[in-house]
Amino acid sequence: MAMNAPHRKSPPKSALDAIARAVGEKGLVAPADAAPFLSEWRGRWPGEAALIVTPASTDEVAAVVKICADNKIAITPQGGNTGLVGGQIPGGDEILLSLKRLRKVRDVSPLNNTMTLDAGLTLAEAQDIAAEAGRLFPLSIGAEGTCQIGGVISTNAGGVNVLRYGNCRDLVLGLETVLPDGRIWHGLKRLRKDNTGYDLKHLFIGGEGTLGIVTAAVLKLFPAPAEKITAFAGVKNAADAVALLAHAQDATGGGATSFEFMNRLCVELTSAHIPGVRDPLGAPHECYVLMEFSSGETGALRGTVETMLADALEKGLLTDAVIAESEAQAKALWHMRHSMSEAINTQGLGARHDVSVATSDIPAFLDAAEAAVLTLAPEARIVAFGHMGDGNVHYDIIGPDGAPKDALADRRAEIEGAVYDIIATFDGSISAEHGVGRHRRDTLAKRKSPVELHMMRAVKAALDPDGIMNPGKML
Ligand SMILES: Cc1cc2nc3c(=O)[nH]c(=O)nc-3n(C[C@H](O)[C@H](O)[C@H](O)COP(=O)(O)OP(=O)(O)OC[C@H]3O[C@@H](n4cnc5c(N)ncnc54)[C@H](O)[C@@H]3O)c2cc1C
Repeated sequence: MAMNAPHRKSPPKSALDAIARAVGEKGLVAPADAAPFLSEWRGRWPGEAALIVTPASTDEVAAVVKICADNKIAITPQGGNTGLVGGQIPGGDEILLSLKRLRKVRDVSPLNNTMTLDAGLTLAEAQDIAAEAGRLFPLSIGAEGTCQIGGVISTNAGGVNVLRYGNCRDLVLGLETVLPDGRIWHGLKRLRKDNTGYDLKHLFIGGEGTLGIVTAAVLKLFPAPAEKITAFAGVKNAADAVALLAHAQDATGGGATSFEFMNRLCVELTSAHIPGVRDPLGAPHECYVLMEFSSGETGALRGTVETMLADALEKGLLTDAVIAESEAQAKALWHMRHSMSEAINTQGLGARHDVSVATSDIPAFLDAAEAAVLTLAPEARIVAFGHMGDGNVHYDIIGPDGAPKDALADRRAEIEGAVYDIIATFDGSISAEHGVGRHRRDTLAKRKSPVELHMMRAVKAALDPDGIMNPGKML
């Protein structure tokens, strides 16, 4: 299905002036301050924009979008600018609309277990707001200090607690959204049941700003855990790690909130490049698992986890393990896990993948992918880590130690193609949690079925017939 007219190339001055009036002086970013909005974390996609605006309310967002719609000017929504697939970076004569000034806490209700927040609050702030109300907002990712509620919703972020609480999609009850024609959808319902037709919020969750702009959300809260135990184990291989997950869940009554896998190279890279990180186990192991367990009761969990680990050692499912003795030790273990992307960045771009398969298929996927990658690039190093409990592997291929940062650039496309071919044989996903953005747009077009692409394009054409919302991303 062909999309309608593409966005206008050069926004007319009269429209830019009208947008400037709509947001006022405080809502305009001066050219001298534009750089942080136009470059992203991996330095991969330099951006350009005709104007950068930071509206302060939903009404101001709607006013800007209406002017853009009337003039067919493209808009790139931006949250905390931590996305890893380039979706938040504009590619030309576009308006970059940052949500950073939408920061109201609209409602917190411990009785409903909900909070209603503006899109521009950071994820860490949302966690704190929940904690102040004696509740847990469980979404947690490495970028949580910077990424915003609107951003995590628009990318359907996953993170380390999906095993117990689900993806961002599972944590949203209602949304307020500005549609591509400037109308506001007031969907901030606090309902857990609403079977009145299509569940429209799910179009915008994971929509990567291609269907509208999320301005506020109703988020689910949970009882705050009374006790948490963090443990780190060495394992012989990925198959043992999968078996350990099943063992841990059986032995703790499904008490695992996180189950993070990493190969040896992850520990080596973080120990070498991230200040404060050191190998938590004395001797090297092939692979590792970082586990966290939580319970609503105090006192019993530690003993249960100790028994579980001892049994696992006896069964040969792990080779060594430590339990964090303090909050500081637990934080140090998580610091290592959350620093993984930063440590890998020091080694250059390589070929990065964020894939998923059924959890039980992870060992076979890793074997098949390693064989394919090393055939194409025998000198490559493989960094495999991720949320094993969710079947999610961050599978990053980097050049040899000390090689130039673009060492694998000549074979990147081939390596990615080989990994995605293997993912297809497992009926997996080419993007488990980071999204599509610019980075995987062409891969998506090749790898989704024609029926899926037809449905996606039909939705896009219905809501955004002029293609002004985040053009060139996802579709
Ligand atoms: C160190 C690090 C660790 C990470 N770990 C994880 C992880 O464990 N799990 C995971 O899922 N992701 C992870 N990510 C990537 C993750 O997708 C982003 O961090 C986050 O979800 C994006 O939020 P943001 O506010 O920065 O959005 P941005 O980067 O600004 O934008 C991301 C996309 O959403 C759109 N968007 C942003 N805000 C809005 C809005 N209000 N309305 C409509 N569209 C909008 C943008 O146009 C873009 O397409 C990590 C990133 C980093 C840097």
